[in-house]
Amino acid sequence: MVKTRIFLFIFMVLNLFSIITFAQKPSILLSNHTFSAGKSEIGSLNINPNQQARFKLKGEQAGLFTIKNNKLSIKAKYIRPEIKWYDVEIQARIPSGIISQSFRIVNDQFIRNRVIAHRGAWKNTGATENSISSLQHAIRLGCQGSEFDVHMSADSALLIHHDPGIQGMKIDASSSAQLRSLKLSNGENMPTLEAYLTEGLKQNNTKLILEIKPTTGKQRALELTQGVVKLIKEMKAQAWIDYISFDYNICLEVIRLDPYARVAYLNGDKTPAVLSADHFWGLDYHFNVFKKNEIWIDDAKSKGLAINAWTVNDPDMLKWFLDKRIDFITTNEPELLLKMVKADN
Ligand code: MG
Repeated sequence: MVKTRIFLFIFMVLNLFSIITFAQKPSILLSNHTFSAGKSEIGSLNINPNQQARFKLKGEQAGLFTIKNNKLSIKAKYIRPEIKWYDVEIQARIPSGIISQSFRIVNDQFIRNRVIAHRGAWKNTGATENSISSLQHAIRLGCQGSEFDVHMSADSALLIHHDPGIQGMKIDASSSAQLRSLKLSNGENMPTLEAYLTEGLKQNNTKLILEIKPTTGKQRALELTQGVVKLIKEMKAQAWIDYISFDYNICLEVIRLDPYARVAYLNGDKTPAVLSADHFWGLDYHFNVFKKNEIWIDDAKSKGLAINAWTVNDPDMLKWFLDKRIDFITTNEPELLLKMVKADN
């Protein structure tokens, strides 16, 4: 009996160790995924977890780039306004062998007007929130970003929806086939994350603000997070994506998988100092949190954290945050805020 218990204990420890080891599989990271007029240096190349590597350019468009001292740059003559992006493959020789990763390097024509459409632009457009058409409207309006929510079905499909349930079905307890057969109020099917990104990645003006929704159980939250980050890498979407979540562990997992990912915390219960120490990119708090802790705006600015407030719809409140010169304002009224920003400039 005791022997069996000891055996079981050793087995569990080994299993846990192998899970951790697999999760730490080395990958190539790039610190930035954009170029712009007059800025040919793109970013640093690293291995995660950190280790020695020799990097090499590969693929059809390798000749457009250079690598020097582990920094990726684009040759100045290829920076042209009509080019939206180039793909480049990076190969790394590391102690355990050779790995490679393809990246999309995007012409930074992203809009900087601070307007984030909350669940897309739906309220004044007739589109259903979190539908592909709500994203298309946000892009058409010229918002800086369009926000959306990601859940995981019982069979691990990544789907876009706000609430944990839809039409009486719980997303985490239903199959993707069941969920995809439902119709949203505008006649669309519930979008998959892949379909949503495919639409968003057709352009390079509006960023995609990806909220990973909390889910039941730590293990499931990790699976959801790892699935999202994996798809972002596969679709080469890093230039477009800012990550947000109410779940601190989800945020930390994104940062662990990609320390260069732009990750902002939503729940409002951590000081800028704590977020900065945990390598967050920003804080994205309810407007009342900033109203109660006005000092956090200056604290966050001094620590170089990006500041976003949600969900601000009232004109006076919008004005208050515009005057505070925070980086982004998430709103259900993107049309109004766009007008205010224009008048403010
Ligand atoms: Mg959301």
